[in-house]
Amino acid sequence: MALTGLDIFKLLPKTNCKECKQPTCLAFAMKLAQGQAKLDDCPHVSDEAKAALSEAAAPPILGVTVGNGESEFKIGEELVLFRHEKRFINPTAMAVLIKDTMADDELNALLDQAEKDSWERVGQHLGIKLLAVKCESGDTGKFTDVLKKVSDASKLALMPMTEDPEIMSAAVDAVGDSHPLLYAATMENVDAMAGLAKEKGLPLVLKGTDIQTLAELSEKVKAMGIEDLVLDPGTRELRKTLEAMVAMRRGALNKKFKPFGHPTITFPCEETDDTYFEGALAGIYVAKYSDIVVTSTPDAWMQYPLQVEIQNIYTDPQKPMAVDAKFYEIGTPGPDSPVLVTTNFSLTYFIVSGEIEASKVDAWLGIVDSEGQSVLTAWAAGKFVPDVIAKFINTSGIAEKVNHRKLVIPGYVAQISGELDEELPDWEILIGPREAADISAYIRQLVAA
Ligand code: SF4
Repeated sequence: MALTGLDIFKLLPKTNCKECKQPTCLAFAMKLAQGQAKLDDCPHVSDEAKAALSEAAAPPILGVTVGNGESEFKIGEELVLFRHEKRFINPTAMAVLIKDTMADDELNALLDQAEKDSWERVGQHLGIKLLAVKCESGDTGKFTDVLKKVSDASKLALMPMTEDPEIMSAAVDAVGDSHPLLYAATMENVDAMAGLAKEKGLPLVLKGTDIQTLAELSEKVKAMGIEDLVLDPGTRELRKTLEAMVAMRRGALNKKFKPFGHPTITFPCEETDDTYFEGALAGIYVAKYSDIVVTSTPDAWMQYPLQVEIQNIYTDPQKPMAVDAKFYEIGTPGPDSPVLVTTNFSLTYFIVSGEIEASKVDAWLGIVDSEGQSVLTAWAAGKFVPDVIAKFINTSGIAEKVNHRKLVIPGYVAQISGELDEELPDWEILIGPREAADISAYIRQLVAA
């Protein structure tokens, strides 16, 4: 049974010293009960109380780390059912399935594509994180050869897939140093597979036939002292998988049901042969609530939209994505290069800077601190208004870097040009385009004039 906030409060020092950054011990106890604080945040808890509080202190969904070094990623540690309640923590990892029966040229092409599938979007790196290598041949030597080849050719984390503990043991000997995720322990092989994972300190997927058998399996493995677990309900059909994902997440968060308090994995690649439908399934499982989604293809047409979906879901809704407020050099601008300003909303910055780059005109792009809001929102909120822009221009040092005094503002705030003229009497205020797509043509005309 999970402890209530009052149960926890009784075990705290009750000094209200605020070192945990909460106003009172009671407030801290409530946060801890909701999984929104860590016991370590209070430095004054006695060892006896720590032992008693360990249940409440554990996050409702434990984190699991896969891979190491460059390939390392973390999943789990989620605290809420819905993003708007707080935020989601560790993004879904996209995986691609490799079979050890694949022809060499097919395997090489897949590895090549998986490495290439890497994108920078609004300042974040997006890409495939895991290669799921499945033993279809039943041949230990063939499987370990393919695993080693994949490991040598790729920087991505690995998930060897076999339900045969002897083959898995050979796989661990071959690539165990890369901290792979082992797939999978079932009711039939659990003792040997869980024993191997425990001995080698590696994370392990538990595969049920439905959520009932998965809960039993999870209880059994947890009783062996293994917590580095990922859960596969074993369902391979949309309705059943979706129900399982939602039931497990609700069980872990709302009921504090420990056997489901682990990250999850889904296999849209095993639910259909239609890759377009598979992409749609993957999108559903990203949204509800799969921590790893295994697909059949690394092709960008499937992966990029999924990466954007993951990025959208896993950004903090309370913290707008922002870039630093300063002047950015687009290309190699000089004293005669145009000067533009906009807000520090990441998407605004990346779109505007991309359009300037596309124009092949070197320019100075001033980014005003608008608390991560876009142009019109920031203007309406008083964050991108004449006195703020003027203060930024006057303190930025841009006047010493250019010979001219022409400042381009976004077309959406054309209405502030008069007031900005008064705030910046030495500058001529030019009104740029409203739409980013028109910036390239505008800036080329500006330098040609
Ligand atoms: S740090 Fe500990 S003792 Fe101090 S207010 Fe927080 S919970 Fe109470």
